[in-house]
Amino acid sequence: MKERPHTGAPFAERIPGPADDPDFMRETLDEAARAGVHDDVPIGAAIVREGAVIARAHNRREVDGDPTAHAEVLAMREAARVLGRWRLLDCALYVTVEPCAMCAAAAILARIALVVFGAPDEKAGAIRSAAELFDASWANHRPRWRYFAPAREESERLLRDFFAAHRAQPS
Ligand SMILES: [Zn+2]
Repeated sequence: MKERPHTGAPFAERIPGPADDPDFMRETLDEAARAGVHDDVPIGAAIVREGAVIARAHNRREVDGDPTAHAEVLAMREAARVLGRWRLLDCALYVTVEPCAMCAAAAILARIALVVFGAPDEKAGAIRSAAELFDASWANHRPRWRYFAPAREESERLLRDFFAAHRAQPS
């Protein structure tokens, strides 16, 4: 596939708008629930391009024994593999929880056009809560972002239920 030149924000009309958020966030929440099967913290992500999900992933840190196996990183890797290129500048990243510093930095490096998250993370969120990496002076690309508040409750419930179940288990 021939890559389009990067000329500012050429994909602005085709990246998802707020009206698209409920459907795409639904996919990330379903994906998050799958992480619990292998005892990973339930966080899910999806990459959207031209109105369709092209990659989805959930947190696999425990099952893979990989500190970088966050849902967002895995979804971006899969999208890059599908597209055959590392620049994801026509892609949006949906994720159930505000990305951490690693994932926010990876979104910058991947030239992600838009990040939409379902729940803020006051402790580690690196978009607006604990840090504002997209405004960092070294960021050579600034993804747009928005917080999709309607997904917050379900996203946080998944996490609460997961941690409650794990506290209940003798280990
Ligand atoms: Zn992360």
